[in-house]
Amino acid sequence: MSLRFDRAGTLYFAAPLLGVLAGWRDGRIPILMYHSVADEDESALQPYYRIATTPAQFMQQMRWLHEHGYRTASLVSAVGLLQAGGDTVEKTVVITFDDGYRNFCQQAFPALGQFGFTATMFLPTASIGDRPQVFNRRECMTWSEVRELQQRGISFGSHTVNHPQLHGLEPDRIRQEILGSRQTIEDKTGGAVNSFAYPYAFPQTDRPFKTMLRAILEESGYRYGVCTQIGRAGAASDPMFLERLPVNSADDPALLKAKLAGAYDWVGGLQSLTKRITKPRTRA
Ligand SMILES: [Zn+2]
Repeated sequence: MSLRFDRAGTLYFAAPLLGVLAGWRDGRIPILMYHSVADEDESALQPYYRIATTPAQFMQQMRWLHEHGYRTASLVSAVGLLQAGGDTVEKTVVITFDDGYRNFCQQAFPALGQFGFTATMFLPTASIGDRPQVFNRRECMTWSEVRELQQRGISFGSHTVNHPQLHGLEPDRIRQEILGSRQTIEDKTGGAVNSFAYPYAFPQTDRPFKTMLRAILEESGYRYGVCTQIGRAGAASDPMFLERLPVNSADDPALLKAKLAGAYDWVGGLQSLTKRITKPRTRA
């Protein structure tokens, strides 16, 4: 991905095509995937691989959603809306964060609150402690911060214990990562955990792995999950492996608008094709 082909294809090809079909509704819900909200220099990375959103950009994105009539939903209610069908999904968006970075508390949470939005944070539990720990060069939130955010309406899900690449691990190890993180979050917060975010690139074309993983997730008490497969969630999506739209500082209003409208979904098809041919780079 040497050029910003995903942006060009989205803005100059897919978005105009969808514009032709204005008024066309496909009943899908965008699930946004954020990681870090901070002023980080990721200029060495191609925009497709960046995981930071500056606080100013995040505020601009939230304001854009608010001004265009979007409301946020939890994963649970989003899946319920999709299964019910109809026009109820219009202008519904789910906002998710992976990795438990502490800058959520200072930067993302106040911006969400300003517009009455909610979000779900997925925690790699080995990186959450009574004092701030570091994961992927960034400070993570503490359990007391998790509890406070939960009281203020933020949902928490599991992102494994150690954030490993699960694909290729023994089933017992996978079970430890999946069940262990859920038990820890429930012990520390007293709240029920029923959602899971798959770390790193999702092996969407490996059906036996997905079958095994789904069985472990269900045995471990999960009902919903998200992954890094690009797209918007629809009635036919697997509730354990819902598609998401990655967002970072490169998402100005034009690109965000196009993504929400479905003009980025073609990247998911390309992603799937690429996985059949080559081992992809990963995103945390
Ligand atoms: Zn992650």
